[in-house]
Amino acid sequence: MAPNPKAPRSALAIYAHPDDAELACGGTLATWAAEGTTVHIVVVCRGDKGSSVPVDPDQLSTVREAESRKAALLLGAHEWQCLGHNDGELSESDLLRRELVRLVRTLRPEVVLTADPTSVFLGPGYFNHRDHRVVGWSVLDAVSPGSSNPNYFPDLGAAHQVQRVLLSASLEPDFWVDVSSGVDAKVLAVLAHETQLVGGSELGVDASLVGEMIRSRASVEAKGTSLQLAEKFRQLRLVQDE
Ligand SMILES: [Zn+2]
Repeated sequence: MAPNPKAPRSALAIYAHPDDAELACGGTLATWAAEGTTVHIVVVCRGDKGSSVPVDPDQLSTVREAESRKAALLLGAHEWQCLGHNDGELSESDLLRRELVRLVRTLRPEVVLTADPTSVFLGPGYFNHRDHRVVGWSVLDAVSPGSSNPNYFPDLGAAHQVQRVLLSASLEPDFWVDVSSGVDAKVLAVLAHETQLVGGSELGVDASLVGEMIRSRASVEAKGTSLQLAEKFRQLRLVQDE
């Protein structure tokens, strides 16, 4: 249960919407990137419905891509890409699994980060977004056996064994990353998502409160450990003798 400070050689964060990775694991990605980890961020949906008022979906998506690319740079990520699905229209399809297997086999990460799909009821007035659950399950299925077994999808490249999966927003966390050196970059990366700061659908807070909110959350997530600021995950070790 102790925090493990070891940074992986490469990490692939796959999340549903343009600001999800930053909020869920931005401190971890920034910390690891500064320690030499090759970080890739992949967004499955294009963020076209990320507003509480009616918008032009293509226009919003274009702005959110620019925001996301800026955020990825601030975190020190090597690459950012979007799979271009419409928000709210995802399903656990073979098509999505194939896209994710191709991604994993191409980027060949040591660690994959995504949302814990078993987290549904996260508070008295909030249950987890369908897109988050669909992406979480689809990423797990794409990692194993989808990518690791050469008999699955033989047309999508050489098999690749991901060593660890870290699931954010988990109700059963067992792994903590010290983000004291990465939290400032996380705050800046979240602030890069300007469309989400006031009246946004998921974040919905004023810019002046973002830093305080993120540091306070990191402090809460560190409780029970020796750390001051942390992000917590459920860890799946797919290679036991690592
Ligand atoms: Zn989201």
